[in-house]
Amino acid sequence: MYYDNGLIKDVMKEKYAKIERRIQVKRDAKSRVSDFKPIYKEFTFTEAKEQGDRCLQCPIEPFYGIESNIEFCRTGCPLHNDTLEWIKHTREGKVEDAFELSNALSPFPEILGRVCPQDSLCQGSCTLSRTEFGSVTIGGIEVYLNEEAFEKGLRPYYGEDKSKSGKKVAIIGSGPAGMSCATFLLRTGIEVEVFERADRAGGLLTYGIPNFKIDKDVIQRRYDWMIEAGLKVHLNSEIKNEEQMQGLLNDFDAIFVAVGAPSGRKSGMKNEEAKGVYQVMDILTHIQKNVFESFYDSILQKKNIVVVGGGDSAMDALRASVRIGAESVKCLYRRDEANMPGSKKELVNAREEGVEFQFLVSPKEITIDDDNNVTGIICQNTKLSEPDSSGRQKLNIIEGSEHTIPCDIIVLALGFDNVKFPWFDTAKIETGKWNDIIVNDEKRTSNAKIFSGGDAVRGADLAVTSALDGRTAAYTIIKDFGIYL
Ligand SMILES: Cc1cc2nc3c(=O)[nH]c(=O)nc-3n(C[C@H](O)[C@H](O)[C@H](O)COP(=O)(O)OP(=O)(O)OC[C@H]3O[C@@H](n4cnc5c(N)ncnc54)[C@H](O)[C@@H]3O)c2cc1C
Ligand code: SF4
Repeated sequence: MYYDNGLIKDVMKEKYAKIERRIQVKRDAKSRVSDFKPIYKEFTFTEAKEQGDRCLQCPIEPFYGIESNIEFCRTGCPLHNDTLEWIKHTREGKVEDAFELSNALSPFPEILGRVCPQDSLCQGSCTLSRTEFGSVTIGGIEVYLNEEAFEKGLRPYYGEDKSKSGKKVAIIGSGPAGMSCATFLLRTGIEVEVFERADRAGGLLTYGIPNFKIDKDVIQRRYDWMIEAGLKVHLNSEIKNEEQMQGLLNDFDAIFVAVGAPSGRKSGMKNEEAKGVYQVMDILTHIQKNVFESFYDSILQKKNIVVVGGGDSAMDALRASVRIGAESVKCLYRRDEANMPGSKKELVNAREEGVEFQFLVSPKEITIDDDNNVTGIICQNTKLSEPDSSGRQKLNIIEGSEHTIPCDIIVLALGFDNVKFPWFDTAKIETGKWNDIIVNDEKRTSNAKIFSGGDAVRGADLAVTSALDGRTAAYTIIKDFGIYL
């Protein structure tokens, strides 16, 4: 609408022909596969300012508001982050003001700026994304701003005296949903204790998303600040049974359940239980533990790896396997490249790093030796039909096309399901058809004292939507406690 106006178009051309859109510089493939360090370099002030100067500062919000169906960066961001304002302050060098605004609605902007798929969120809704000039690189500016603020000694606000409110909340799971809920509760002066099954906090931010996408120090730093502010984190503390849940119900005024969607889907292939077949999360956790210990002594070293699946977690496993020293790394996907569900950017990155892709192959059976070790995978070639009226192409197996791809390790990256814990019944938490926890708009479950959000409710989704759910639940809990913001 904006850009269709001839005068505005001319003004935009005048401005945007001069400032080129840039993304953060990527390390070259040879250097980046030799370590697990992040592949993108952060913007400098000059780059962030220049990219911030590309922002139109659209006058959309005052006209239409964020609840309208007119898209702009804030409506594209699930948190409705006040992007326009903090970009303006950043480019003017007003770091303190920009930092405060950037942290107001987002519980951890320096993390989301690194992991959000911005092209389908804030940047996908940026007015400039509908022009030949391309969107403002919001994620890059968000990371620059927050890192610059930390460098200058600024810290996120986590509230005053936690005993004042007299209220205590338990959070089960320390991923982005739990971490976000804890953030907004702490800010309001509420005592919070997190119970986490793993040996480190952060959920999939720590043990799912690989280190080359987000350095784990960035997650731990946030947790350290929250702990300094009074958060209690109980690691290696799985809530397993009904007694434990009853204990939490007795000891806490509210509970937020943020257990994610941890169950990897099976393939149904013959010999799926053979030695050498792994779920994608087992492999990613194994590799990240190696990175934490810096010993790089991995079951994947010098092995021929096949990853089955074409989504983002498949890309992560492929690229992590290259770095840990696999002999060869192959991706098998049953549709074609255009139909891959994973991000195109990650596909390019994986190719640059030496991953081989085989499209239009459908794995059928795993071959094994006498000791039940994987020796290969039998595949059939596939063909896509012409698109039907809905645009969907049917997948057909090509008869007689069976062939075996030799390999030592098979990684299944076929998606995730929710898990119904036995204590859901004790706590009277209702679940849906897919074991997803049922909540209302305020993130309250069928038990008025228990809330939930993130992947436990949505099924496998995103860090930013989990952060949104954590924030919504925190606001409801705060309101229940009679605290007014
Ligand atoms: C490989 C991979 C890569 C991804 N990459 C991206 C990305 O780049 N960008 C993005 O936005 N999203 C990405 N996602 C999705 C994103 O990580 C998730 O949507 C998000 O982490 C979900 O947050 P959550 O807090 O609901 O759950 P999780 O992050 O899954 O956290 C749940 C936590 O609960 C703990 N837990 C579970 N059960 C119990 C229990 N009974 N007691 C105590 N603790 C328990 C778990 O150990 C875990 O730490 C990725 C996911 C995967 C698997
Ligand atoms: S939180 Fe994610 S979607 Fe929102 S502004 Fe930041 S990068 Fe964009």
